[in-house]
Amino acid sequence: MATFDEGISETLSLLRRKGGMTRAEIVAETGLSRSAVNLRIDALLEARLVSGSARETVAKGRPAEVFSFNSERGKLLAADVGATKFRAGLCNLGGDVESEIELPSDVSAGPEILLTSIMKCFETFLAETGTNDDEILGIGLSLPAPVKRGSGMSVNPPIMPLWNRFDVPAWFGERFASPVFLEKDANAMAYGEARFSHPEADDLLLVKIGTGIGSGLIREGRLYRGADGAAGDLGHIPMTLPGDDEGPLCKCGNHGCLEARAGGWAILRDLREAGADVDSQDDLIAALAAGDPSAVQLARRAGQAIGTAVATAVNLLNPRVVVLAGHLVAAGGDHLLPAIRERVYSRSLPLATADLTIVASSLHPREGLVGLAHLVSDGILEPAQIGRLVERGPSD
Ligand SMILES: [Zn+2]
Repeated sequence: MATFDEGISETLSLLRRKGGMTRAEIVAETGLSRSAVNLRIDALLEARLVSGSARETVAKGRPAEVFSFNSERGKLLAADVGATKFRAGLCNLGGDVESEIELPSDVSAGPEILLTSIMKCFETFLAETGTNDDEILGIGLSLPAPVKRGSGMSVNPPIMPLWNRFDVPAWFGERFASPVFLEKDANAMAYGEARFSHPEADDLLLVKIGTGIGSGLIREGRLYRGADGAAGDLGHIPMTLPGDDEGPLCKCGNHGCLEARAGGWAILRDLREAGADVDSQDDLIAALAAGDPSAVQLARRAGQAIGTAVATAVNLLNPRVVVLAGHLVAAGGDHLLPAIRERVYSRSLPLATADLTIVASSLHPREGLVGLAHLVSDGILEPAQIGRLVERGPSD
């Protein structure tokens, strides 16, 4: 027997998935009694998590009231942090980004400096939109680093050692009372793509190809983090190509990782070694956009290495959709994607590739923010958390 909070969370989840429904439709869909549905709807109405409106009458009789998820019940604050930039946003509960800004970031400088500039963005959103603190129902942050499952901390992050075990929820907790969710960047992106662009695919792999390389996995409709939260670390799998020795040194201290061959920082290193005058990811993006032959050749080579790793992942996990995201896909997708596709289709099992789709992200550059908004929204509306919102209803 479901508890009351489980019941209202389940009914709300149904309305979020299906759109507006009448009481009779909810009864028919769930098999619940009319009185149980009434109790749940009344609680959700009182908490303003759903709103009711009359549907046009079918034939004769009174118009039936249709109940829909009220995505304007509150706001969420989110920040998607990359190695060189972060994007902060104010979103509604439906994952719509209502205000946003992108600024340079230096994750290696440590958490205090970066979180302070993110907080400044959040304060600006609140001031500019006239949003009160009590309307903020949740906060989400994603990092280009492994996040220990359920801890709100990154553990031994290779490119940002000063963040090791820094308590992100506690830091935001000094300013906001709402729950704080910390997630690995590729996980947030995978969640956003799965919820927004590919809701029909229960099994999805997202590969982020930016300064570094990472991946996020949706398995049977849920984010798969592994036993500790380290699942999906595609960038640091060992990768040897024909003609190579142990391979270039990686930022994690090992040699020959995928990222040390094909990540944005590795391509930049190789482009510089080839004599090009480039020193940032923006320079690399500009070189790719201009069709610089060395940059294009390096991107194709990176695509082959990434494709080999993705083929392994496809053999192991059998996703329905592989989404490629990150600034190198946006800038150099024409060179990366064919190489990745060719490698995956020639190296993976026919059964795994027959219905496999490999696409570039359709949410770029917002895949991280949209994913965080959905993660936070789902997090605060799950049975264990929804009581906070129902208790805060106007009748209290
Ligand atoms: Zn590595």
